[in-house]
Amino acid sequence: MPGFIGHTAANTVALVGTSAYMWYDRWSIPDILAVDAGILIATFILSPDMDLFKSEPMAGWGVLRIFWLPYAKLVRHRDRLHIPVLGTAVRWLYLSFWIGLLVILFRFWFRRIGLQVEFDFQGDTDDMIYNLLFLVDVFVGAIIADTMHYVLDIITSKLKIGRPRRERWSTIRNRESSFAGEEEWKEN
Ligand SMILES: [Zn+2]
Repeated sequence: MPGFIGHTAANTVALVGTSAYMWYDRWSIPDILAVDAGILIATFILSPDMDLFKSEPMAGWGVLRIFWLPYAKLVRHRDRLHIPVLGTAVRWLYLSFWIGLLVILFRFWFRRIGLQVEFDFQGDTDDMIYNLLFLVDVFVGAIIADTMHYVLDIITSKLKIGRPRRERWSTIRNRESSFAGEEEWKEN
């Protein structure tokens, strides 16, 4: 039951540790910042706990969390998409899908009202590759954060299973039914 604070603390350790390692390994400052940005994004914006409609990272989206309702409904909490790399990629693609859809809708709408907005990318191939490498850095950072999240979830759920149960089953059952919603909130 690490909760949002537990995950944030663990990912802060990952951020400091990764930055220190990259600095020692003589990575460029923009590269280090890009990886750090990935860790922060995966902690606060695209966390694996986006599979819960009632979670801190979800609350951070405000009214925009409506876009995450299908994801939260379709993906079972702590299921396959909690796995790093796979889940990371799916959440990024999910967000890209919505952004792409909005861009297409806005283009259509702008054309209808007679507004000319140029969306085409004017840079050359070298610029594109250069920027793409930063995106790879950000994605690597996100994978680091998601791995930390996954490991922490596994460790804490193992500890929970291993904990001796001295309470009577009836008491536990009653408590579970009355606090089910609250537990879901905490267990992310
Ligand atoms: Zn989780």
